[in-house]
Amino acid sequence: MTNFAIGVDLGGTNLRIAAVDDQGTIGERVAISTNVALGRDRVIDDMCGAIERVLAKCGNSDKLYGIGIGVPGIIDSETGLLRESPNLPGWANYPVRAEIERRLKTVVILGNDANVAALGEKWLGAAKDFDDMAMLTLGTGVGGGLIIGGAIWQGMNGMAGEFGHTTVEPDGHPCGCGNHGCVEQYASATAMLRMAKEAIAENPGGALARAAQADPKFSSKTAYDLAMQGDPDARKVFGRVGRALGIVLSGLVNSLNLPIYVIGGGASSAWDAFSPAIFEEMRKRSMVYAATAPPDPNAKKEWASAHVIPAPGKKTIVARAVLGTDAGLIGAARLPMIAESKS
Ligand SMILES: [Zn+2]
Repeated sequence: MTNFAIGVDLGGTNLRIAAVDDQGTIGERVAISTNVALGRDRVIDDMCGAIERVLAKCGNSDKLYGIGIGVPGIIDSETGLLRESPNLPGWANYPVRAEIERRLKTVVILGNDANVAALGEKWLGAAKDFDDMAMLTLGTGVGGGLIIGGAIWQGMNGMAGEFGHTTVEPDGHPCGCGNHGCVEQYASATAMLRMAKEAIAENPGGALARAAQADPKFSSKTAYDLAMQGDPDARKVFGRVGRALGIVLSGLVNSLNLPIYVIGGGASSAWDAFSPAIFEEMRKRSMVYAATAPPDPNAKKEWASAHVIPAPGKKTIVARAVLGTDAGLIGAARLPMIAESKS
């Protein structure tokens, strides 16, 4: 008999569902598209139907912990209400948890998508050897998650870990949250493309501009390739990405003194272009690093893709995520397991 949970990654475009056992092995899985345009009830119908199909394929004698769902938005963890979600219009203040529990007759736990991705990387990914970690997810926006003692740190009302809205430029680019100069405006996939276009406008004769002219599907990937070839305009774009992330990470290092910080999300694929600027910035701003002089250049690349900032006795690690798009699915499945161990 296996003990397992269902993890759901409810994105604005794709809905992914998997059975995950308590050793972290992924079993049955399905992916369908999220028919956001057809309305909330249709999405919930589709999701419940897909969960039932996955459950039907799992053994009857196996024990189900429940269903964990990662949702893009602000969740009230106590009431199970989705308070706000830009990607799921019409879902505000809808009792998602109660409705799915009613339909599927099992425990349902909701988590913010970036928080559950952090939980996934903590359980089975880059931070699996640590109890405490923080993660930044670079996607359309910049999400964040803080894991303390192996569980998501929710804060007073589920808002903890919004590292993406940390100010890195006090009078910088306006952000959707109402602030100016959030790290999201410098390190998200959206921001990378915007900054590449700004760089093109500033130097219309440069290699970046020529690449954009030649390629109607110009993306931040093109800018990344040019940065890796040494193009100064493209390098500047990713230098700003790394600098913004380095400022945020230095603040986290100084305030939380966690053993590991993980960078994930689709746009983290540009790691090689932006990570040198992260470490340059952290050397300047992080007290943990400053506490050790002189820095040991050989200690920088020690384990997998991790970069290590030496501290007295122990080392602060900044690492790339390793689970890719499965992080959210795995972390979501972990939610009901943790809930049961606490009850
Ligand atoms: Zn913001």
